[in-house]
Amino acid sequence: MGYVLGLQCRECGRQYPKEPLHVCEFCFGPLEIVYDYEQIRRVLSRETIARGPRSMWRYQPLLPLDGDPTVGLQVGFTPLIKAKRLGKVMGLNNLYIKNDCVNHPTLSFKDRVVAVAVSKAKEFNYDTVACASTGNLANSVAAHAAEAGLKSYIFIPADIEMTKVVGTLIYGTTLVGIRGVYDEVNRLCSEIAANFPWAFVNITIRPFYGDGSKTFGYEIAEQLGWKAPDHVVIPVAGSSLITKVWKAFNEFAHLGLIDEVKTKIHAAQASGCAPVTTAIKENRDFIKPVIPNTIAKSIAIGNPADGYYGIKTVKESGGYGEDVADDEIVECMKLLAQTEGIFAETAGGVTLGVARKLVAQGRIQPDDVTVLAITGNGLKTQEAVMGDVGSPILIDPRLSAFQDLFNGKEGK
Ligand SMILES: *Cc1c(COP(=O)(O)O)cnc(C)c1O
Ligand SMILES: [Zn+2]
Repeated sequence: MGYVLGLQCRECGRQYPKEPLHVCEFCFGPLEIVYDYEQIRRVLSRETIARGPRSMWRYQPLLPLDGDPTVGLQVGFTPLIKAKRLGKVMGLNNLYIKNDCVNHPTLSFKDRVVAVAVSKAKEFNYDTVACASTGNLANSVAAHAAEAGLKSYIFIPADIEMTKVVGTLIYGTTLVGIRGVYDEVNRLCSEIAANFPWAFVNITIRPFYGDGSKTFGYEIAEQLGWKAPDHVVIPVAGSSLITKVWKAFNEFAHLGLIDEVKTKIHAAQASGCAPVTTAIKENRDFIKPVIPNTIAKSIAIGNPADGYYGIKTVKESGGYGEDVADDEIVECMKLLAQTEGIFAETAGGVTLGVARKLVAQGRIQPDDVTVLAITGNGLKTQEAVMGDVGSPILIDPRLSAFQDLFNGKEGK
């Protein structure tokens, strides 16, 4: 038994039943889930959460399922690490990394949204799930569809990283590469969704999908000892995660689980695809779509579906938005790896690069509790750093060969 009252239009407030709907038929605004917080308050406390499973499902009353989840039971509850060595480099005394590089089962935060979406698709009795993806969603939908025994169709830009292609095909899905950028993939998928009776996780059942991202925020607050941080820096693609982390902290405060939220939410993008952070810098509340050109392919969305709400989240919270160039992304991927032992994907380099800029601008102060949202694993975007990490030194299998090397007699 869940706690969803229905759906509601974010713009005009019109109510809809708990069905696979995603846009308001009157104003075309996006629909969101309405929860019965009075009932949730009765069943959810710090103690009940702490007694729950070590997964995102410890917050199940705040997720939009009617029954128990049926796939992705191990997703979430990833480590929140105090980053002392990186903090020292950055001049921050209270720096934390929320590490979804190691999220189960496909090594990105997308497993959170997909675990909810595919469980919900089963509740709605779909036999096929689908998505438009920049790569990580593809991996996760394919994996969870396999676990659920559902058919899947997955649509990607044809030029994404080979590891993300292989890491999708392995699950036995139908993977369709589109000759175009993500925004073209997404537009095509909207048309397909209107013609095929499939649960497109980020289109047909988008309101249900999106709320899985809230668990990223719940976990941060719980792992900090039931308080929201001063800052979170979040990589932005479609702008869903950033709005949901904000929603998560505010829901926790509304339920009395944490004190008043004073968190500043900062948006991080690559300079080669920065429609959201550019709008923030130019003090606009609307997106000017761009054509992406960056190595940070997982977040290369030129016309983000929730871009308007992403901007709004940043403004409401008092945060800011910054972007970093591709060479800084690589530099920061190496910095994170070499200070904390965490190999994050390109989006992680974006987050760290942006955090560094925010520190330099004085927007993040040395003692502020700051969390970096590290959302995906670097093993999946190796192309991005391949030319920048050197190569192994080759020697013959003899001790003298190593001694020569050690004594600097043999070069690289
Ligand atoms: C999808 C993705 C994001 C951003 O997600 P949105 O909710 O679409 O903004 C961030 N990081 C990684 C690694 C992603 O795959
Ligand atoms: Zn409406």
